[in-house]
Amino acid sequence: MRILSVFGLLLLLFGHTVQAFTLVPNRAKFPVNNVTIRIAGNDCSNNSLSPARLLDLGLDAMDEYWNRVPTSAMKITGGSVDAAIDVSGDTLSAALAKAPGNTILIGCSADTTMFDDVSILGVGTIGTNEQGQISGALLVNDALIAGENHVASLADSLLRAVLAHESGHALGIGHSGNPVALMYYSIGGKIQERLTQDDYDALTYLYPRPSKIAGCGQVTEVKDGGAGLSFVLMICVGFLVIVVLKPSYNV
Ligand SMILES: [Zn+2]
Repeated sequence: MRILSVFGLLLLLFGHTVQAFTLVPNRAKFPVNNVTIRIAGNDCSNNSLSPARLLDLGLDAMDEYWNRVPTSAMKITGGSVDAAIDVSGDTLSAALAKAPGNTILIGCSADTTMFDDVSILGVGTIGTNEQGQISGALLVNDALIAGENHVASLADSLLRAVLAHESGHALGIGHSGNPVALMYYSIGGKIQERLTQDDYDALTYLYPRPSKIAGCGQVTEVKDGGAGLSFVLMICVGFLVIVVLKPSYNV
C-alpha cells in the first residue's frame, strides 16, 4: 500500500510538470522576498502612458497577480517614480544596469532594435545592475513601427496582464509551455485575468514560503504508528522530487 501511494504521488508530480514553468536563462533571482517598483521618469512619447500611469498600473498588476500566491513569500509592494532615471532609448540590458537593487524598474523605451515589431508589447529580465546588485527591469514598447504602436490601444486589463507577465521575467521566471499560464509567451486572443497553478508553482519554487509542516528530521515525533509515519515520509519524498525534477524542465 505504501509503495502504491508513493508511486501514485510520483505519477501525479510527473503529470503535473509536463508543461511546467521555466526559469530565466541566467537563473537569477532576488536575494530578498520583498521587492519594490521603481518607474523611470521619462515620458512615453507614442503609447499614451505616463510614469504616473505606469506606477498605478504596475502596483495594481502586482496585487492582481503575483502578490496573490499564498505559497510564496515574495511580495512586490510600494513604488515611486524616479525622475533621474531615463530609459527612453534603452535596450533591456541598458535599463537593467540603471535599476536600483531589489527593485523592478518599469519604463518606456522606443528602441527599435528591441521593439522591431508592433506585436512585441513589452520585455522583462532580471540580473545585475551597474552596482553589482540584483535587480529587475521591464520595458514597455513605446516605438513607432510604420506609424503604429499597439500598446496605445490596449485596455487597462490587458496592460496589467502585460506588466504582470514581464514582471514574471523580472522575478526570474521564464516562459511556460502551458498555453493558459500567464507566463506563456503569447497573450494574443485572451485576457489573462489571473495566475494559473503553473505560475503559482514558478513563483513558489523561486521564493517559497516557509513550511509549517514538520520537517523530515522530525519524523520520529509521529506517535500514531505506521500510517502516520508513512504519511510524513511521503511528504519528504514529494519535496525531494520537486526539488530534483523542476530544474530539468528549465531552458
Ligand atoms: Zn515573455
